[in-house]
Amino acid sequence: MTANSGKTGFIGIGAMGTPMAANLARAGCRLVIYDADPDRAAAFASTHEVEIAPDLASLGNQCGTVITMLPDGNIVRRVICGEGDGFTNCVAPGLAAGSVVIDMSSSSPVGTRTLGKLLTARGIKLIDAPVSGGVKRAVTAELAIMVGGDGEVLEACRPILAKMGNQIFHAGPLGAGHAIKALNNYVSAAGLVAACEAVIVGKRFGLDPDVVVDILNASSGMNNTTKVKVKQFMLSGAFNAGFSTGLMAKDLRTALEVAEAMGGPSRLAEHCVEIWNDAERTLGAGADHTAMFKFLEK
Ligand code: NAD
Repeated sequence: MTANSGKTGFIGIGAMGTPMAANLARAGCRLVIYDADPDRAAAFASTHEVEIAPDLASLGNQCGTVITMLPDGNIVRRVICGEGDGFTNCVAPGLAAGSVVIDMSSSSPVGTRTLGKLLTARGIKLIDAPVSGGVKRAVTAELAIMVGGDGEVLEACRPILAKMGNQIFHAGPLGAGHAIKALNNYVSAAGLVAACEAVIVGKRFGLDPDVVVDILNASSGMNNTTKVKVKQFMLSGAFNAGFSTGLMAKDLRTALEVAEAMGGPSRLAEHCVEIWNDAERTLGAGADHTAMFKFLEK
């Protein structure tokens, strides 16, 4: 079976997985879905033409391509290879040689390379293809997708990736996608904290926060947070951008891990990890990441 034929497995029907799988189903992919939360899988299947796999092994048996969109790389490894070395209750044993696993989660690149070795030993190919753009761009299939791994495998998977995103980059060898994804989120998270601090301080100085955002957006301080998050999710009080504080803190820890392994520099990244870890503890891992504004305001 090739990456472009037969059924495609999709594991992780969460905030991102739901719109991504929906775009695949709408484009005519024969999807077999699985989520640890059966209610999520059932809700999705009630509105889309997909099959629900009763368990991971059965999903592996049916699919030539398997996409994971899970919280982190440790979970991806457990789902694909099982606990320990046993390869039980997991996807890999069912997959035929030549099958492809596409990990679209934001995983740690170190773990991705280990997973790659485990799968290569079974004749299974792995690429990392994490995404950026959030729920909004997942819905419109306009995600940026950064791919690590063999170029030929990427080309075989490109048609399926193109149904979820409109900018597909070959970042480099296996793990490169996950490395740049973590670094991207570091830049994004640091910018978010800077934007929140500026708006809060501006407000305390007596400025209208909406005006602060308008001026930042017309000036060199503009960033993704000032453009699409401060007014929309923070000043509005909505705090529902769809990406959790826990997942952002995890991405920052991964970015710092990569930076430290490379010998830095990581002076700002170290502070940033501290701030986000603190926010995760105080707000709870499930709080939306835009609640950082409330956390800093206190
Ligand atoms: P989420 O928590 O909304 O969804 C994760 C899903 O995985 C849930 O439905 C959960 O039930 C399921 N799951 C957890 N453990 C499982 C297991 N062992 N087996 C099967 N299913 C399991 O998370 P999300 O926001 O969709 O993020 C998914 C990934 O995408 C993360 O790695 C995140 O960092 C990344 N990401 C998120 C966003 C965003 O804006 N939310 C943007 C880019 C990347």
